Amino acid sequence: MLKGKFPVDQFQALETPFYYYDLQLLQETLEVVKRESGQYGYHVHYAVKANANPRLLALIAQNGLGADCVSGGEIQAALEAGFPNDKIVFAGVGKADWEINLGLERRIACFNVESAAELEVIDELAGRKGVVARVALRINPEVDAHTHAKITTGLKENKFGINLSQLPQVLKRMETMSHVELTGLHCHIGSQITDMSAFRNLVIRVNEIQEELEKKGLRVEHLNFGGGLGIDYYHPNHLPIAAFDNYFAVFHTLLDKRPGQQVHFEPGRSIVAPCGSLISKVLYVKEGETKRFAILDAGFTDLIRPAMYDAYHRVENLTSDEPEELYDVVGPICESSDVFAKDIALNKARRGDLFALRSAGAYGEIMASRYNCRKLPRAHFSDEF
Ligand SMILES: *Cc1c(COP(=O)(O)O)cnc(C)c1O
Repeated sequence: MLKGKFPVDQFQALETPFYYYDLQLLQETLEVVKRESGQYGYHVHYAVKANANPRLLALIAQNGLGADCVSGGEIQAALEAGFPNDKIVFAGVGKADWEINLGLERRIACFNVESAAELEVIDELAGRKGVVARVALRINPEVDAHTHAKITTGLKENKFGINLSQLPQVLKRMETMSHVELTGLHCHIGSQITDMSAFRNLVIRVNEIQEELEKKGLRVEHLNFGGGLGIDYYHPNHLPIAAFDNYFAVFHTLLDKRPGQQVHFEPGRSIVAPCGSLISKVLYVKEGETKRFAILDAGFTDLIRPAMYDAYHRVENLTSDEPEELYDVVGPICESSDVFAKDIALNKARRGDLFALRSAGAYGEIMASRYNCRKLPRAHFSDEF
């Protein structure tokens, strides 16, 4: 059985649980992203919220990607990691005044605006500084991403974005504002999307919207399609790089791009998920009446995705080759949702074995909490070993 390329002997000396990042895989992924997007001249901003570990951010910045931020803290982290200010875009439904001011002061590339109310505040704050903010309007294209309800965002009457029916009003109000400049349209329909037809529908929709706007005499400098490309959580060893080729090809094939228009993307998960694993030690094997539990020293405070979104992460016992048995893999936290997997086959586990929870590089470390007064997980990188 393939267990990935882990330096298991060196892991034994480290305090668990910890995140392990394969920097070589991240670099290979970035090469694919650059090649597949670059052939069409597309611009890619990495969605910092997926993982803001400074070493990963620095590597992504070195590869020339921009940053998609959803908070002032993320803008600061992106700048510190070396992302140039003119490659930073800023989305989010609840931008606080200090966050907008930070974006204005650091002259970021674009505010992705999610409501008329926000637009007015940006106009006012930019006016006070005597500057003009570049904005894109985030619209709800009403495309079903066919993904988990907690990560779908492109449907109508969502807290995110501006509904299409309200777009004319917003544009009208914008005409009276002198400190915002409309530069683009933005959309983001959800996350962990593996069905390319969702992206096809999105492009077709945006083509229609663009046509409507042009009838009103409005042409935008850039179109931003957000993130959302999914990865294969089931086969991390065989399919470690997301289908960036198919993904960008959909846009190239279907998008009615206007001459000189820029096309932007904001992938998060697809860039960093595969390179990270949560490494944890088995504390106890508890034999129940009908079930066997492997109780780990990692819990949902370290990786919340299974508890929050019923997410699947492949689990591997890195230190056993004994025949497989069925386990529920659980954490130590005093909540019944602290379960990583149920009834999965694993090489026989004993106290002290090391488990890897694979494909945990996105929405893992960054979502860690100190609930139960636990320590935050640390991070180790492949080039340390
Ligand atoms: C979360 C988010 C992304 C990244 O989504 P992934 O599914 O991780 O690719 C991109 N853009 C916006 C606006 C987001 O909120």
